Amino acid sequence: MKLLAIFAHPDDEVFSCGGTLARYADEGHQVSLICATRGEEGEIVHPDMEPNSYPKGPERGLLRVDELAATCKALGISPPIFLDYQDSGFPIEVGLQNPQAFMNADIFKIEEKILDRIGSIHPEIIITFDPHGMYGHIDHITIHRAALAAFWSAGSVMQPAPQRLYYPARTITQVEEMQRRFAGSSNSDLDPNIFGVSDDSICAQIDISGYADRKRLGVYAHRSQFGTEERINELLDGRPDFFRFETFVLGGARGGFPADRLNDLFDGVS
Ligand SMILES: [Zn+2]
Repeated sequence: MKLLAIFAHPDDEVFSCGGTLARYADEGHQVSLICATRGEEGEIVHPDMEPNSYPKGPERGLLRVDELAATCKALGISPPIFLDYQDSGFPIEVGLQNPQAFMNADIFKIEEKILDRIGSIHPEIIITFDPHGMYGHIDHITIHRAALAAFWSAGSVMQPAPQRLYYPARTITQVEEMQRRFAGSSNSDLDPNIFGVSDDSICAQIDISGYADRKRLGVYAHRSQFGTEERINELLDGRPDFFRFETFVLGGARGGFPADRLNDLFDGVS
């Protein structure tokens, strides 16, 4: 069967659900990834990389395209499909200055582009950001809105249409725990009751412990964004769940959905 992940920037995929993507590719499913932008506004933190050598804009985008291609290879999924939008940057004021930024694009046009790709891939399952974009990035919220619209409008323009839409999610407890561990970081400002969900809302918990190495390699590939392997290990070793399981909430379903929490996103999909 086929799974399509739809995100905004290079690195969104591996942090949201890299283990799940690796697992399904390994189990013989076709796993594709749409990335709306090339992440042209990302900050370079690797000490061996000179930010001025890759100025924000097309040059930085090319660097990140290569990094995402390496991540896809590490995860064992198909090469990324880009929608060719421009990264809006962070905070939102950056994108407000740029009429070409993804956040300023026509939402119906984005939906149409996604529909085109859904029409050629025909995935049973789609994964995208939740309505809060994991931590509120405007591009994450924008891709959520367009992918959600495309999931539903697909039903009137193609058969078969995708059957399930999932959002990677963290529980309130997980967000609280991150705040404790990473006091002072951007994650520590997140309100757990907005950016986390109740335990009962989790519809699927995917065991990715067998794919921890691939996920780690997938994160390493985004070296401009996260730095040396030592730095990444330090960052991630404080999040033991990161390599054990990934959790999802249901964004939409065509047909029935099992009553119990799933340990396989394809459970009940025909
Ligand atoms: Zn992102």
